[in-house]
Amino acid sequence: MAVGGDGCFLIDASGKRYFDGSGGAAVSCLGHSNERVVAAIKAQVERLAFAHTGFFTSEPAEALADLLIAHAPGDLDRVFFVSGGSEAVESAIKLARQYHLERGEGQRRHLIARKQSYHGNTLGALSAGGNAWRRAQFAPLLTEMSHIDACYEYAERREGESLETYGQRTADALETEILRLGPETVMAFIAEPVVGATLGAVPAAPGYFARIREICDKYGVLLILDEVMCGMGRTGHLFACEAEGIAPDILCIAKGLGAGYQPIGAMLCSKAIYDAIAGGSGFFQHGHTYLGHPVAAAAGLAVLQELLDRDLVAQVQARGAYFETALRARFAQHPHVGDIRGRGLFWGIEFVAERDGKTPFDPALGVAGKLKKAAFDEGLVCYPMAGTRDGRQGDHVLLAPPFIASEAELDGALDALGRAVDRVLASV
Ligand code: PMP
Repeated sequence: MAVGGDGCFLIDASGKRYFDGSGGAAVSCLGHSNERVVAAIKAQVERLAFAHTGFFTSEPAEALADLLIAHAPGDLDRVFFVSGGSEAVESAIKLARQYHLERGEGQRRHLIARKQSYHGNTLGALSAGGNAWRRAQFAPLLTEMSHIDACYEYAERREGESLETYGQRTADALETEILRLGPETVMAFIAEPVVGATLGAVPAAPGYFARIREICDKYGVLLILDEVMCGMGRTGHLFACEAEGIAPDILCIAKGLGAGYQPIGAMLCSKAIYDAIAGGSGFFQHGHTYLGHPVAAAAGLAVLQELLDRDLVAQVQARGAYFETALRARFAQHPHVGDIRGRGLFWGIEFVAERDGKTPFDPALGVAGKLKKAAFDEGLVCYPMAGTRDGRQGDHVLLAPPFIASEAELDGALDALGRAVDRVLASV
């Protein structure tokens, strides 16, 4: 049982301290005892705990929306607050559908997503995600959606193919799928700029997202980027898509927005989408009771102010560079480490039985689960992901330490992970 939080550490009921090396799953970007965020929550709950958005907006929700828009890429211009990542993705899918309906293009109903992806656990978001393990037992309830390959260079780039050519080839699969479905029937494409919960911090090849943006524009298909995990500074940019030089039509964020202090997510959309609905039926036909919850918004506002006032995104770049060097020094030569990838303070290590052939461990060995347990024993929380049964993808762990972690704390985490890795891999 977790009973306390202290900076980058979690404390259990026995008093044992754990370095929070993954922030759950990239949630706790400010660590666990941020006074400014705690004070903002207390002040808001004393002033106004709740007012339904069917009647009111609130000061913290307005201020947070303004601040997000002031820093958002492209022409993202409106914000819709929800309680988490799945709700943000559901909202995005429904907004895309309603946008086309309002413009008289009701035949646009297909959403294209990627095979190696996770967009949430509610049925719409789970339908969009391509994570086979998460989908398996719910498949009969899921909506049919198209899935193209994600940009996963380590496993899928061909011998002798340049990274750029691989990126273009993989992006072109979107055009092929749009043409197969009929361009007039496709409403949107959804992707994570850096794949989180399915692959473990895999950025796209250079030029991939620029080509994706081009293809979406060519066919009037909306581009939805899911930055629920990789957004809010995690990759060393406030929004991960900044590194790709593109902006989406709809952007989903969550985890790092509330930093774990409150459950909050958001969907941002362009003015064109907002105007199509405002000038049409005038009403986005979607909502939940806790939309724009004032206390959650107060937490989100304080988190974003902390990121901006303390220049923590620049700190992510600096600490991220340090972390990458230390990570590679410790693990790159390891005979069972196939790949180390990531950006900022968002890193994945993929383990393989055999490096040259990139052969994954037999999933029955449960390497990722064993790593989670061994790291936990060493006082480190890291997020494990089991390899898939199609034999292409190895077990991996995701590291997403708090932005406030010192170099010494990051070193300590890697030492603990190193001991856990040595112990588990010797045993399998
Ligand atoms: N999208 C992505 C990219 C995610 O990583 C997650 C959560 N891991 C979600 C959506 C769903 O978010 P939540 O668990 O807050 O519903």
